[in-house]
Amino acid sequence: MTFDPDTLWHASSCATSLRPAASGQIAADLLVVGGGFAGLSTALHAAEAGLQVVLVEAQRIAWGASGRNAGFVVPNFAKVDPDAVCMALGEDQGGRLVRMAAGSADLVFDLIRRHAIGCDALQSGWIQPSHSAAALAKARDRVQQWAALGRPVDLLDAAAINRLTGVRGWLGGWIDRSGGVLNPVGYARGLAVAAERAGARIFERSTVTSLGPVPGGWLAQTGHASIFTKKVVLATNAYVGDLMPGLAQCFLPLRVFQVATEPLPQQMRRQLLPGGQCVSDSRRNLFTFRFDAENRLISGGMHVFGPGAATRVPRAIHRRMARMLDLPDLPPLAYAWSGTAAVMPGFLPRLITPASGLIAGFACNGRGIAMTTALGRELALWSAGTPVAALAIPASPPSPIPMHALMRHAPNALLPVSHLRDQMESPVDLAH
Ligand SMILES: Cc1cc2nc3c(=O)[nH]c(=O)nc-3n(C[C@H](O)[C@H](O)[C@H](O)COP(=O)(O)OP(=O)(O)OC[C@H]3O[C@@H](n4cnc5c(N)ncnc54)[C@H](O)[C@@H]3O)c2cc1C
Repeated sequence: MTFDPDTLWHASSCATSLRPAASGQIAADLLVVGGGFAGLSTALHAAEAGLQVVLVEAQRIAWGASGRNAGFVVPNFAKVDPDAVCMALGEDQGGRLVRMAAGSADLVFDLIRRHAIGCDALQSGWIQPSHSAAALAKARDRVQQWAALGRPVDLLDAAAINRLTGVRGWLGGWIDRSGGVLNPVGYARGLAVAAERAGARIFERSTVTSLGPVPGGWLAQTGHASIFTKKVVLATNAYVGDLMPGLAQCFLPLRVFQVATEPLPQQMRRQLLPGGQCVSDSRRNLFTFRFDAENRLISGGMHVFGPGAATRVPRAIHRRMARMLDLPDLPPLAYAWSGTAAVMPGFLPRLITPASGLIAGFACNGRGIAMTTALGRELALWSAGTPVAALAIPASPPSPIPMHALMRHAPNALLPVSHLRDQMESPVDLAH
């Protein structure tokens, strides 16, 4: 029994044996709850800083969004750019957050090199093609803003986008060459091993069922263990459940499907993405694609969920890939899976401080690999004594989203409207 979800990434990463569940009385400087990128990066950086770290994961490492994503490493925010961030947060806090984001992909690839993590990593670049004239104007602006921060970004015209992607129809776009691709399960498992080498203790199949303040710290209960810790980092993202009252109401859950085809024949593979980058275009209903190391074409997207979604949605994504990339003979799907990510109001990373000595980190918004790795480094700084106000990510007490019970369905339910707006802006079908 593996307890792993059935994703391409779990199937194609080196198998790891199940770590023991937490048991008995355990003491630590820092308890990290959640074994995704955020928790693992926190554990690694805190252990390297000399703290006694315990990480508990309810299922297995990379069971959550960290094992279910597309493996795009993207060093920017989903909806906002540096100027808007500084306007919203002020020059000081905004500047720190922007610098964190700007270096986040480099941090990922540096960690992979430093810890020799086998995860098919390629710092080949992230490309955002523009589907409309307005999107191209925005791409120009985005390039100016990130270039001013010294980032390796370039504006691309339609011919350059066609050359890099093999796809015609986009009006241009931009590339951040510090982005790239990886196998996310391989990356997470490698971070876990690196954290253990640095001294962290990791337990799997260990759900924290209660968490309460005690003199000098916090007491956490799992099925078989009582863990006393000076500080707690909640790295549970969208899978927090009701562990901490009010936390699940601070974000909107975003359910996303991913698919991977059987490997493409060489002749078909050569027509697309010769440089091995990842592509997410500028549509509201994003069109994304990349290849894995075995030439499987990977795409995904948001969808309106409902009865039969598990078979209906992957088929719809496959049809969209075949149409957008003009591949009528696209090989069939080999894998389809889904996951849930947390979207914060304002689409920016945020720390939530429900009580003294306890902090929760959310850095996803669809840009989770690079951003949550950087978030983990910030949370490790906090664990080692840096005041919250000095961190790169803004912090606040829990602040529930108004009408959350209704709003939580908005990201997926509003998809048909987004689709309609995309089509009105860009009726042109893509082709290569
Ligand atoms: C389908 C999909 C595609 C995506 N594609 C990309 C992409 O290509 N690039 C990108 O940058 N980002 C992408 N993202 C976002 C990215 O995957 C996430 O932002 C990131 O993985 C979040 O990491 P995390 O560590 O915060 O949370 P998670 O990886 O979700 O980890 C949270 C963990 O906490 C554990 N947990 C919860 N409660 C408890 C408890 N009580 N006790 C113990 N453990 C607990 C869960 O079991 C889970 O493993 C995608 C997300 C999805 C869903």
